[in-house]
Amino acid sequence: MMKMTAAVAPAKGERLEIDTVDLDDNLHGDQLLVKIVAVGVCGADIMRAKNGMGRSEFPIILGHEGAGIVERIGDDVREFEVGDHVTISYASCGHCRQCLAGRPYACEHSDELNFGGTEYYGDHRFSMDGQPITSFFQQSSFVTYAKVQERNAVKVTKDVDLSLLGPLGCGLQTGAGTVMHILKPEVGSTLAVFGTGTVGDAAIMAAKAMNVGRIIAVDIFDTRLTEAKALGATDIINSKEADDVPALIQAMTNGGVDYAIVSAPANGLPEQAIRSTGILGHIAIIGGAAHADLSMMNDILVPARQVTGVLQGFSLPKLFTPQLIQLYQQGDFPFDKLVKFYELKDVNQAFEDLLNGTTVKPILRMPQ
Ligand SMILES: [Zn+2]
Ligand SMILES: [Zn+2]
Repeated sequence: MMKMTAAVAPAKGERLEIDTVDLDDNLHGDQLLVKIVAVGVCGADIMRAKNGMGRSEFPIILGHEGAGIVERIGDDVREFEVGDHVTISYASCGHCRQCLAGRPYACEHSDELNFGGTEYYGDHRFSMDGQPITSFFQQSSFVTYAKVQERNAVKVTKDVDLSLLGPLGCGLQTGAGTVMHILKPEVGSTLAVFGTGTVGDAAIMAAKAMNVGRIIAVDIFDTRLTEAKALGATDIINSKEADDVPALIQAMTNGGVDYAIVSAPANGLPEQAIRSTGILGHIAIIGGAAHADLSMMNDILVPARQVTGVLQGFSLPKLFTPQLIQLYQQGDFPFDKLVKFYELKDVNQAFEDLLNGTTVKPILRMPQ
């Protein structure tokens, strides 16, 4: 057992607490012990803490955008060495039909592995005063050391500030991957992005890198829209001030955008995004509302539109994270502009700032 510092969510809707917890640091053959340097805060952490999303119990240690340094490796690990810099992404099983076909983002066991609360081998890795603590995404990286599966870790270059890189394993790969792996917009095509948090902004940066001709950002926060413009949006719309966003976009683009992305879980957005596209429009739903009020005939069939639900931007982190880091180093994916650093003890402030729109991507630094 190792003693360590963690931000623990004690019960549904309560503030996180900084506690000393125990980690069972016995490694299975395919596991790594990673000293976490920094971890991104994502909407999924907040939803889990506030609403108890998923089926796992409290208390829980959240955090699923970890970045750190390999401290120790299991006996069967070949890909990593002690001292490697790594980011930690989503978990997948490796042997279901989707994993075998090279689509681990659609793993049939994704729900239990990422949200089930126990570890890959079925036990609990963390405890406090002998009571088990639920884990998250096979990492729970709001903690000074995390035990992770080799499958979920990505080796990254030591040329870049490691503390920036954790969000590449979730929010950033989701937004960029949606553009690069799913929509694949042609040079000069048109795209509307609904919601300009981390995922939407990553989509905007990726679209700019792919020379999309017109990138229309839609949000309700002016500060975020200004930032979206700095990242590459050619047009911005504050949807609180516009009566009919689809009509506006249809008029701006002479018949609708080619592509649209819904990255915020707000009611009404999927309908708006679909109706903003033209004939043969392709719409990616990342953070969708629970329900949408659509006409299958008028909104989908007649205009021959295509709607795709997105998981992790259909990204293969071991390949895509290094590609995104290279784009960042070339100046074509400036995601550091979204980031504000917080100390682990200020995790509740980071949650608040993400929710009220003052920070796009909070990153927590671990006490060293
Ligand atoms: Zn996330
Ligand atoms: Zn699988």
